[in-house]
Amino acid sequence: MFKRVLIANRGEIALRVLRACREMDIDTVAVYSQADADALHVQFAGSAYCVGPAKAADSYLNMDAILTVAKAAGCDAIHPGYGFLSENDAFADACQEEGIAFIGPSGDVIRSMGNKASARALMQKAGVPVVPGSDGPVPDAQTAKAVADSIGYPVLIKASAGGGGRGMRRVYDADSFISLFEEARAESVACFGSGEMYLEKLILDPRHIEFQILADRHGNVIHLGDRDCSIQRRNQKMLEEAPSKALTPELREQMGAAAVAAAKAAGYENAGTIEFVLDGEGHFYFIEMNTRIQVEHPITEMVTGTDLVREQIRIAAGLPLSLTQEDVKLQGHAIECRINAEDPANGFRPCPGKTEFLHLPGGCGVRVDSALYTGYELSPFYDSLAAKIIVHAPTRLEAIRRMRRALEELIVEGYATNAELLHQILYHPDFVRGSCTTGFLDRELKSLLSWSRCGSEEKQ
Ligand code: ADP
Ligand code: ADP
Ligand code: MG
Repeated sequence: MFKRVLIANRGEIALRVLRACREMDIDTVAVYSQADADALHVQFAGSAYCVGPAKAADSYLNMDAILTVAKAAGCDAIHPGYGFLSENDAFADACQEEGIAFIGPSGDVIRSMGNKASARALMQKAGVPVVPGSDGPVPDAQTAKAVADSIGYPVLIKASAGGGGRGMRRVYDADSFISLFEEARAESVACFGSGEMYLEKLILDPRHIEFQILADRHGNVIHLGDRDCSIQRRNQKMLEEAPSKALTPELREQMGAAAVAAAKAAGYENAGTIEFVLDGEGHFYFIEMNTRIQVEHPITEMVTGTDLVREQIRIAAGLPLSLTQEDVKLQGHAIECRINAEDPANGFRPCPGKTEFLHLPGGCGVRVDSALYTGYELSPFYDSLAAKIIVHAPTRLEAIRRMRRALEELIVEGYATNAELLHQILYHPDFVRGSCTTGFLDRELKSLLSWSRCGSEEKQ
């Protein structure tokens, strides 16, 4: 087993990895930017090194600085968390060249799945259903439009390098295609430094269903069930639950088998996620693979009783999976709410600032993954995720009731959050019924916000 792991990340996920390491008796080394000197991951790690200024490009994305620390501190492995360098093939390669284990798949696998257009092609070859769309990337707007015309509208323009819901545009008619294509491409160039685009048919009002995969070096590939991430704002997840209410046991088995086939086709090793959209008729389509630990991994941990980060570390150390497919039993229901420092009443403007007061929920079946504390200054340099509230209960309805009361216990003072909005979602009849699709939140946002404002007026 590894002796010392460097955690190339910050915030709640850095803490999450630290916790797994400590429980495994592995030393930890944190890296941080000048903006994060007061961060909890710096406090809790065995040792911590500053790797540059606040801007992520100069610190958390600074491969040379991070590798220099890893070598100087005698680390034998690096955990990249999510975001930052987690899906950076050059970084995975560089770790390997230095003889440091990258806790994730190889650079080659990241390359082949990181380009979403080529991942689609690979899945098609492996017999995994993909959304009808372009054969690979489209070279320019005019050619793309011809392809869109032949696929038939509505279509979705997507960035091959995309992530976090960016570089995507829905197109409902031929007339608006060219301008939306240019918009999506400009966004992709700005966010990902690549203008490579591809097309998919827009599946109308689908669910986002994803499967957690674990694969080791010994040929074992299993899935740990599904997560329903249909509560999204502009293609970004806000609330996730496991298991999905939309899947029958048969469909779950079918999609799980497709996810395992997808991971095998990719030659995958470590933890990963196969994302699908599921239409109203029970047809499912691969949309992408995330070759890293996912933000919403805790709900899978709750329903399967597995520590996914521990599994990641064991896999990278060459150990076999500690469970088989038959061992995976989905127990009860779990929900995660992402508490973001953003103002829903103001177009979800990020509003980081000083955490004047914090009270986190607790009690039976409640888990909080967060790096916040009273007095902590949330930095504007990084994403606005402030805390993840996770609940587990025997049934879905009990989990919903538990999450409502957990959110009622949460107090964050100093900046706006989406907590009230999440609380309202948990009372919405469509959510309670379990019938929400990816269009739900954008469609219901106005009424959800007006209710939450009424709610806060009543309290005053
Ligand atoms: P998930 O929530 O399913 O894990 P997301 O796509 O929402 O996946 O991304 C998780 C985190 O990674 C977010 O903090 C997001 O900002 C970040 N992220 C996603 N894609 C990229 C990327 N290409 N480059 C840098 N950060 C990314
Ligand atoms: P990202 O890398 O940004 O996470 P994804 O390909 O996973 O991009 O898509 C993000 C979200 O966009 C999905 O969760 C889903 O809600 C929606 N989406 C993606 N592809 C399609 C599609 N072909 N039809 C309908 N919705 C889609
Ligand atoms: Mg995705």
